[in-house]
Amino acid sequence: MEQTYYKTRDFGDIYRFIYQKKECSRQQIAKELDISLPTVTRNLNFLSESSLINIGGSFRSTGGRKANVYRCRPEARYALGMDITRGHLSIVLVDLKLDIVDSERISFPFADTKAYYDRLQKEVERFLGRQVVEKEKILGMGISLPAIIKGDQKTISYATVVDATGNLYEEINSRIPYPSMLFNDANSAGLAESWVHYSENPIIYLFLSNSVGGALMINGKIFPGMNWRASEFGHMKIIPNGKKCYCGKRGCLDAYCSAKKLSDFTNDNLKEFFEELALGNQGFRNVFDEYTDYLALALNNLRMCYDCDIILGGTVGAYIEEYIPEIREKAAALDHLGKRGDYIIGCHYKTEAAAVGAAIYYISDFIDSL
Ligand SMILES: [Zn+2]
Repeated sequence: MEQTYYKTRDFGDIYRFIYQKKECSRQQIAKELDISLPTVTRNLNFLSESSLINIGGSFRSTGGRKANVYRCRPEARYALGMDITRGHLSIVLVDLKLDIVDSERISFPFADTKAYYDRLQKEVERFLGRQVVEKEKILGMGISLPAIIKGDQKTISYATVVDATGNLYEEINSRIPYPSMLFNDANSAGLAESWVHYSENPIIYLFLSNSVGGALMINGKIFPGMNWRASEFGHMKIIPNGKKCYCGKRGCLDAYCSAKKLSDFTNDNLKEFFEELALGNQGFRNVFDEYTDYLALALNNLRMCYDCDIILGGTVGAYIEEYIPEIREKAAALDHLGKRGDYIIGCHYKTEAAAVGAAIYYISDFIDSL
């Protein structure tokens, strides 16, 4: 595989520009990056020789010659993402466009034991064994889990949803044939969403799964806070002395808006809850109304703090699209400034956002390294 890059700054800048724009013309690159056309052309040739971009179709232009369209080749590199939850293990393979090329989700309850890690290794081997992509094009594997991870991306500083010890990183890293790092699941999912909704504006991701969390992204990067604990939205107190939260305190958003508040009525089956709700089950409608009352309260609080769009994700986010108008209405009624709820948006990845987001580290690192 071609590894010799023509490492000038222009080479990387032009690649990153095309990546961000998704498609563009030679003239556009020259104009917006303020690089001369001959330099742009030379670097586009290098990028093309390195199999990083291709030339496809052509822009319609008003008169004159049609301009070639340059796009990044999504299949130039790949990254793996793994998501560890209390009950499941997911593995995804994504390309540079963050499209899921292959994925596997298995029922595999977490246990901090040798047997668990040995089976995890077997599952990774099986998954890799069926891939047709060149193994050396795979950059690494990001691992997401419901835990607070320190800045070294290897050390767990706090975990209650899965009972993991300090050795988890070493246990997994020694069993897979690629570099790996650990990431918080909600941050990862948020990162995946912010990359697909690429925007210069800050964006919040509210992770509504069996635990509630989130992420604040600025320019496609997660805001980590001073102790890597920023955006723990699940433990915002919304009701003084309210319901007990798994963290031991009372009145946290998690105690009102975790997916369990809905799936408790359908034997842990969230899909069934939403199916019943869609069929007009009045009992479920009452439960959902109460859920969205608290959700709207949290959304309005976040909007007051950050004044940006908020993506609803997690397992609840996968089913929420058709209820967004009613959630917006409730949130708008609380907003004394804007009196609007259109900042609330649905998520792009209905499944595996956390696994995709964990893979992004390696993709981002690759793009930055050019
Ligand atoms: Zn709490």
